[in-house]
Amino acid sequence: MPTLEGAPPPTARTRLGRLVATAPRWVVVAICLVLAGSAAGAISLAVHAHGPQDAASALAASPSASGEVTLPPTAPSSASATSAPATPAPSSVPAVPPATPAATATPPATPSPVATSSRAATPRPNPCPGDAPYTGPIFVTSTPSATGNGSNGHLPASKLSRLPAWANDTMGTPQYLLKNAAAALIRLDDAFVARFGSSLDIDLTYRSYADQVAIRAALGTIAAVPGTSRHGTGVALDVQEWSCIYGFGTEKRDWLVANGPSFGWVSPAWAREGASNPEYWHYEYVG
Ligand SMILES: [Zn+2]
Repeated sequence: MPTLEGAPPPTARTRLGRLVATAPRWVVVAICLVLAGSAAGAISLAVHAHGPQDAASALAASPSASGEVTLPPTAPSSASATSAPATPAPSSVPAVPPATPAATATPPATPSPVATSSRAATPRPNPCPGDAPYTGPIFVTSTPSATGNGSNGHLPASKLSRLPAWANDTMGTPQYLLKNAAAALIRLDDAFVARFGSSLDIDLTYRSYADQVAIRAALGTIAAVPGTSRHGTGVALDVQEWSCIYGFGTEKRDWLVANGPSFGWVSPAWAREGASNPEYWHYEYVG
């Protein structure tokens, strides 16, 4: 059916204009009063849910002079308006890495050390029956802050990559490594999956200075002096402390020690079996 150029079909606006022109005056007054009430309600709702800034957008969405009414966007709950976290909750894992600080209008609030280093969630049980149950405080990978001077434990989020979801710990905490180290680990995991059929079980990666302080306070001298941990430079990871899966002499440990170096990931000499500080779970990226 051809379009009648120059003669658009009547719109709601023109229809309303005709209605106003032909209606009795008291009907027009009544319509105006109803529309004014809707506008006031929309503005009030926006101020309650978002604060004064969004009142302007609600005003824009209020009835126009033509009488066309557009409903304001659905208001979120007041809880989200009052808390408004700048960083996603650990339980909601986005499919892509978070935006760099440059793309963020306001830097996210830095979580307290307690919030980043301990969680209420219960980790997946250790599948190795020979391991003594862990009863100490639970520490998780630190959430990097938007800003940082680049020193140990003060890496800005822009220097780190968030690893894919397969690397989340057993409680769903995301992992962060220096960009090159993360890319290399993804390639290493691809090879690991090809060999064993499932991804590495990552426990810990980046550790902020504040969390290094908290861990040192909780565990004493077996933890690194704050400011010296390789985890604070974004190039270290711990697999889960499951001795029957990753312990010395296991198939997976031997494979990682043999194949990790071709991806830049090594078991440092001090962490080897019989060395000064044997930690079968700890690996470092050396490029
Ligand atoms: Zn470690």
